Order: sequence, then C-alpha cells, then structure tokens
Amino acid sequence: MYKNLILLGSTGSIGTQSLDVVRKYNINVVGLSAHKNIKLFEEQIKEFKPEYICITDMETANNFESRAKELGVTLFKGSNGTEQLSRLDGYDNVVVLNAIVGIAGLKATLSAIDSGKDVALANKESLVTGGKLVMQAVKEKGVKLLPVDSEHSAIFQCLQDKNSVPSLKKILLTASGGPFFEYSTEQLSKVTKEQALKHPNWSMGSKITIDSATLMNKGLELIEAVWLFDVQPKDIQIVVHRQSIIHSMVEFADNSVIAQLGSPDMRIPIQYSLTYPQRMESNAAELDFFTVKDFTFAPADDDTFLCLKAAKEAISKGGLYPCAVNGANERAVELFLNDKISFLDIGKAVYSVLDKFDFAEEYTIDDVFETDKKAREYVDSIFNI
Ligand code: NDP
Ligand code: MG
Repeated sequence: MYKNLILLGSTGSIGTQSLDVVRKYNINVVGLSAHKNIKLFEEQIKEFKPEYICITDMETANNFESRAKELGVTLFKGSNGTEQLSRLDGYDNVVVLNAIVGIAGLKATLSAIDSGKDVALANKESLVTGGKLVMQAVKEKGVKLLPVDSEHSAIFQCLQDKNSVPSLKKILLTASGGPFFEYSTEQLSKVTKEQALKHPNWSMGSKITIDSATLMNKGLELIEAVWLFDVQPKDIQIVVHRQSIIHSMVEFADNSVIAQLGSPDMRIPIQYSLTYPQRMESNAAELDFFTVKDFTFAPADDDTFLCLKAAKEAISKGGLYPCAVNGANERAVELFLNDKISFLDIGKAVYSVLDKFDFAEEYTIDDVFETDKKAREYVDSIFNI
C-alpha cells in the first residue's frame, strides 16, 4: 500500500471517494488540487493537512492566497500548478491519483511519470488524448500506471495471472448502457439535460454522466483499454450489462472467461489502485447475488449513439484522431450543459470532426493541445458560437 498520496481533483466525485479510502487507511496526503470548489477544498485542507495545494482556476487561487498562508500550506496556482504538485520530490512510496476531469489532466499525468512516480489514473482523457506519449513515458521511467476506472481496474485484476496474459484473446468491456438504452434517434431528439444527468447505477461528475448517456464514455474507455493493455481495438468487445455488477471480463485462448464483479462503488477500484497488489477490507457493500437476481447482456448501438462510433473510428485511424474526438466532445458537452445545443448535437459534432483534419501517426505534446483547440473551434463553428 502507498504511504504518501498526491491527489489531483480532490473536490470531485472520484476525489471525495478517494479521500474516503485515505481516511480508512490513514494514507499521508502530501498534496491536493481543486479548481473552483473552494468551500469543500478548505474543509479537505483542514482535515487532511497537506503540505502543498494547488488551485487551478486563477481567480479562485488569487482569492485564496492569504487563507493558504493562514492555513500553513504552500499554494501552487493555475494549470501549471498541478504539474508542480505532481513533480514534488522527497517522498518515498508515493502515488499521484489523477482525478481531474478532461484533457486538463494530461500534463499532470506526464509530469508525475516524468518525475518517476506511480500514477493511479481516473483521468481517462490523459490516455485518450496523449496515449502514445503517456505509455512511452511509463516505459522509459519504469513506473506503474494503475487504472482507477472500474472497467479497467476489472480487466487489470483479471490479468493478474502473468502466465495467462500471453494467451489473452479478447477484452469484454462492459457498459451500463446509460439512461437512454434502446432509445431510437427519434426518442433521443426529445431528451432533456435533466434526464441525461440521471445515471441509472452510478453517481458521478456531470461531464462523465453526460458521456455515459451518449456512450462517449464507453468510446473513451475503449481507447483507454487499447493503451493500457496493449491490444487492438478489434480485440475489445463492448457488452451492455445493465446491472453494472460485472465490471469487465477477459477471454483467453482456451475460451475461458474471467470476470471481476462487485457492487457499483468506485471505492473498490480506487482502493485497489492504492493498496495494489494487496487487497484490503473495504467500506463498499458486499455483493448479494440473491438481490441482484438478473444478469443481462446486449450489444451497444453505435448506429444511434454516434459518439461511440466516432471513438471506435478514431482509435482505428490512430494518431491524434482520438484527441480530436475528445476535444470536440468536451466542448459539445459543455455547450449541452449550458443549454446551447441538443443531446443529438453532441454526437453529430463528435462524429463529424473525424473528417475535418488529417493526422500523422507520430505527435508531440504541443500537437495534442493544438488539435484539442482546433477541435473545440470546429464545434463552435458548426453551431455558430
Ligand atoms: P468531477 O467533475 O466530479 O470532478 C472533477 C475534479 O477536477 C474536481 O476536483 C474539479 O475541481 C477538478 N477540475 C475541474 N476542471 C478542472 C481544470 N480545468 N483543471 C484542473 N482541475 C479541474 O469529475 P469526476 O470525479 O466524476 O471524474 C474525474 C475523472 O475520473 C474523469 O476523467 C472521469 O472520466 C473519471 N472517472 C470518473 C468516474 C466516476 O465515478 N465519477 C468513474 C471512472 C472514471 P472543482 O470541483 O474544485 O471545480
Ligand atoms: Mg468506467
């Protein structure tokens, strides 16, 4: 189990659940980061007493400067602050848990790895936008990249028998199907923001909740799995499993399938990333099979849910196509949450960005951010914003 933790995005859904695990096991919190939610952040600072903090929103950071002094913490400000936090040295047995939402998490992931730290990754957008750079850095530095996303934690757990890994045939990536499972395009044209924000099984931040409704989340996860487990997109099958009890499965050469199951509680994968390779007692509920009763399975409909189709095509095309669809999605979701575009517009924007640019296989970090910017501008242009 890690002794020291730098937690990025501590005020979010994953961030607060991570602190629950920290409480249980008395892990030392070296650093915390937040963006704008200063009320909760100050409570966290008082409770966990980090030496360092980062506030990424500049205005919020400037307003908090004198309070940080009173609290006796060193404050890093702005988006570069998360990189400074991730680079802190002088701590042994330390892990950076990245629970920032969006591409805003990428540089911190790279800084943590570059400074030789293991990373527990919830921020899937790091791998979607800069997967090649992240995996190259992991290899060069010889650090661990531990998945926090429940599906990827499940796959990771199913692959713990190193003798079986070479005969891995297929990953079965499970999906809840979201609130609009089996909806037609016609039905989707009438859904509201409030409906989209109600996930049947998980309580999460607003961006990933919308991603779950559009199935973009599953597309992002497919890309995440390609990088984490070094497999081809064709070797990942998406299986809609409405109950969210099986968190994913792997199939081996002998057609035997191994799955990881548990109640839908993110504290299980979060805790496993912090205690790995040990398993320890958890605050999450035990699974009761007699309450669950039914297990159902169905294919995912990517003709209707264009975000999923876009993500699949993007990872097959390679290069910065996944980064472009991610950028288009981040902007489109923001517009949807601000009531500027409809639910179906998200898919249209994300799918159509694929034809707008040509990307080579190789890229730099500057190319990643340039692509993200162009994809966002493209989305604004199609909606006249
Ligand atoms: P939330 O929206 O709940 O939290 C996001 C966190 O990031 C908050 O601490 C927020 O700060 C901070 N943040 C927001 N914008 C920025 C920015 N521009 N720069 C730096 N920090 C920022 O998200 P979730 O916890 O739901 O998700 C976090 C990540 O984990 C996402 O990548 C998501 O896909 C992934 N994930 C989430 C799961 C879940 O169950 N929630 C499951 C699996 C993966 P503040 O609140 O102070 O504004
Ligand atoms: Mg997930």
